[in-house]
Amino acid sequence: MEGDLMSQVTGYATQEATAPLTPFRFERRKLRPEDVQIEILYCGVCHSDLHTARNEWKSTTYPCVPGHEIIGKVLELGKGVTSFKEGEIVAVGCLVDSCRACQSCQENLEQYCEQGPIFTYNSHGRHDQTVTYGGYSTQIIVDKKFVLHVPKEFKEKDYPGVAPLLCAGITTYSPLKHWKVGKESKVGVVGLGGLGHMAIKLAHAMGAHVTLFTTSANKVEDGKRLGANEVVLSKNVEEMEKHKNSFDFILNTVAASHNLDPFIQLLKRDGTMCLVGAPEFPHPSPTTAELIFRRRKIGGSLIGGIKETQEMLDFCAKHSITADVEIIPIEKINEAYERMIKSDVKYRFVIDNASLKKLSTHSSNDNK
Ligand code: NAP
Ligand code: ZN
Ligand code: ZN
Repeated sequence: MEGDLMSQVTGYATQEATAPLTPFRFERRKLRPEDVQIEILYCGVCHSDLHTARNEWKSTTYPCVPGHEIIGKVLELGKGVTSFKEGEIVAVGCLVDSCRACQSCQENLEQYCEQGPIFTYNSHGRHDQTVTYGGYSTQIIVDKKFVLHVPKEFKEKDYPGVAPLLCAGITTYSPLKHWKVGKESKVGVVGLGGLGHMAIKLAHAMGAHVTLFTTSANKVEDGKRLGANEVVLSKNVEEMEKHKNSFDFILNTVAASHNLDPFIQLLKRDGTMCLVGAPEFPHPSPTTAELIFRRRKIGGSLIGGIKETQEMLDFCAKHSITADVEIIPIEKINEAYERMIKSDVKYRFVIDNASLKKLSTHSSNDNK
């Protein structure tokens, strides 16, 4: 493939904020010396895909091909790639490039690249400025530095559940590590969705005491099964009262704007609540006194760097952690988005990308 040929790819794209995703044909770039060409086997469906497809962050370029929880098989390698083998199972997450020179890049924190990281979809490539297209497609071509090794402990049956580790997994692993969660920690997880269910599994594996805060009464049993020591319905004021001033760290994964005060009140002196949910509309401003009186902190965290993503995959392999998934063919993606909004998924949709191959002969769109 190195040379003049580009690969023809079938994907699913949105053409505007209010349109559904539909079949879309496009070309992947020619293989560069440092590139890995990957046949995509599975791609997880993140709430960020929905925020982006519908332009909820007001930053979407159309057509938009979402998808950043990618598991695939190496088809071909550029001349300069020796760290991967043809046929190897590999993964790609939310990042496909960065400047590699700034302080964040040099500290393996490419997600905070000071030139702006290049995301797997809806970014502009560093070399040619074309818009990046994600994992709702048959193939992707990625620079070797941004391709992950899938640990050998994971077998074929595990691959659908490994895909969501590439965003939901690393986005929760990274802040848990940054805020030094371990055996002595009392950790709260707010929201039981794709990120929330990974946060429970990971914090539990790190040895923490974990409490889930959910708005959904029907998720109490699941929360415990996933590893929470306690589950609290966050709308129940009396139950919330019992947990005041007791948490070292809270990871808030909620995808919608909400009042932060009831969760800030749960923190001990010097405790931190890290926000990873990225809602369309801002949260109401928290009450300053809730922060001042106990020196509490609110922080944020964006996915994780490539080195830490590999560390997270190895951690998950060691602890036999994968996501709980519902596998769908690509034709069900619009329905899956509606169900995700209603919180009707346990706990991540994953696209079987073989369903895209079947479409190859039918689609007619062209983005030239
Ligand atoms: P998800 O699967 O849809 O889960 C979100 C959860 O939030 C729901 O399951 C629900 O949990 C809770 N929730 C409460 N009220 C809600 C409401 N009105 N609307 C929607 N959810 C509500 O989403 P996800 O894929 O885990 O993503 C969560 C958020 O993180 C999204 O905003 C996403 O864009 C963001 N994100 C951020 C990063 C990062 O790097 N910071 C990375 C990936 C995703 P309960 O039913 O338990 O209350
Ligand atoms: Zn994501
Ligand atoms: Zn950089």
